[in-house]
Amino acid sequence: MREDVFDAEKPKEACGVFGLYSRELAGELAQRTYFGLYALQHRGQESAGIAISDGKRTTAMREMGLVSQVFDEARLAPLEPGHIALGHVRYSTTGSASWENAQPEFGGRGEINVAVAHNGNLVNAMELREELVQEGFEFNSTSDTTFIAASVVEELEKRNSVGEAVREAMRRFRGAYSVAMICGEALVAFRDPQGFRPLCVGEIEGGYALSSETCGLDIIGARFLRDVEPGEVVVIDDSGLKSYRAQRMKPALCVFEYVYFARPDSRFDGREVAHARQEMGEKLAEEAPVEADVVMPVPDSGVMAAVGYSQRSRIPYAEGLIKNRYVGRTFIQPTDGMRQLGLRLKLNPLPSVIEGKRVVVVDDSIVRGNTSRKLVRLLFEAGAKEVHFRVSSPPVTGPCYYGIDMDTKEQLVGANFSVEEIRDMIGATSLAYLSVEGMVAATGKPKGQLCRACFDGEYPVAGTSQKFALEKAGKK
Ligand code: SF4
Repeated sequence: MREDVFDAEKPKEACGVFGLYSRELAGELAQRTYFGLYALQHRGQESAGIAISDGKRTTAMREMGLVSQVFDEARLAPLEPGHIALGHVRYSTTGSASWENAQPEFGGRGEINVAVAHNGNLVNAMELREELVQEGFEFNSTSDTTFIAASVVEELEKRNSVGEAVREAMRRFRGAYSVAMICGEALVAFRDPQGFRPLCVGEIEGGYALSSETCGLDIIGARFLRDVEPGEVVVIDDSGLKSYRAQRMKPALCVFEYVYFARPDSRFDGREVAHARQEMGEKLAEEAPVEADVVMPVPDSGVMAAVGYSQRSRIPYAEGLIKNRYVGRTFIQPTDGMRQLGLRLKLNPLPSVIEGKRVVVVDDSIVRGNTSRKLVRLLFEAGAKEVHFRVSSPPVTGPCYYGIDMDTKEQLVGANFSVEEIRDMIGATSLAYLSVEGMVAATGKPKGQLCRACFDGEYPVAGTSQKFALEKAGKK
């Protein structure tokens, strides 16, 4: 039995997608894709998969586990050489965490076959499934990605142009989807009209690379070209890169990508995520100053914001909580006795930094509040005189329907209690969150171009939770 006992409170990113097209690099595409996925590991830790195609035949390997657990030289070797590659790391947001739902996902009918890697969440997965079943499709998987594959296959049956087929299929999807796909001789990328989840394209020897984040391009030596635009279809084949425009809507890139999900060394619109996080910390220091002796982060997610808070407040920065860097998902179920140790499995305080001090501790978000409570207790036990908790995002007040596995409203502490009540619950001397305005300003993007729904309730597309909806309906 596997359990994520250490990061149980953080919202889970949906997935990471990766793609490569290069005849020049054929023969090393599997290795490069492996490294691309390695860089995107933070976006999904349940399963990993790679598919390689020569335009006619596609071989694939996908398995439950981390990239480093799923792949080694021996397991990459059977993937036949080809010039098109697709990679995926998954955390399930629609459909359970099972091998059948691992990606790349395959779809096909007759002569037409596709392989799909998807990041996001369709809010109309159930309706789409009903329609496709009526149109003669049968499904084994409970993931919405299957319906994306089937919809594209259906359109490819009607026309020769891959770009136009994908553009037509996109009319049926509602919600969040950043997709990389192998369609015959082409590598295809497309993004929902609001661009909830990121996706970018880079240049590499003899071709192009696709990645959820720029860190996936950096690791394989690809040069960032541009983002795949919201509502755009990019088709890459031997004739180069072609762009097709689907619908345009008001953009809504997920602001939580800046707050927590994306890697700090990734860039959105040329702006490093680390830079945005540091600015969130600076704004937090302006909005919620306090007299204290030391600023420290909750590692690793609070580091950049704590640096920003320290710089703006001129309170010295120190690392007072030491993280076990090798703790991640465990396959061992902890005993009840071990559970009491809780946070100490992951974080250990440095009394020399904390003892007798007024401490500001900075984290990126509070979702349920249990970890924050344990953390405050840990700091007081280590001798802190005062513990001032600062959060570099606003209270999370609503669930996400666009590809992030967030708790239901009942479990979100920010949705049910005031800031003062939460302060009392976690036992901190003081508690303050960054405002929505401060968070948005730190991204450098206009407010109207970001999804902030879980913070301010303005949902760009109406939706309900689709996770397990297909299993619950008994539709395997
Ligand atoms: S609801 Fe929150 S987590 Fe979901 S896309 Fe919007 S900002 Fe991101």
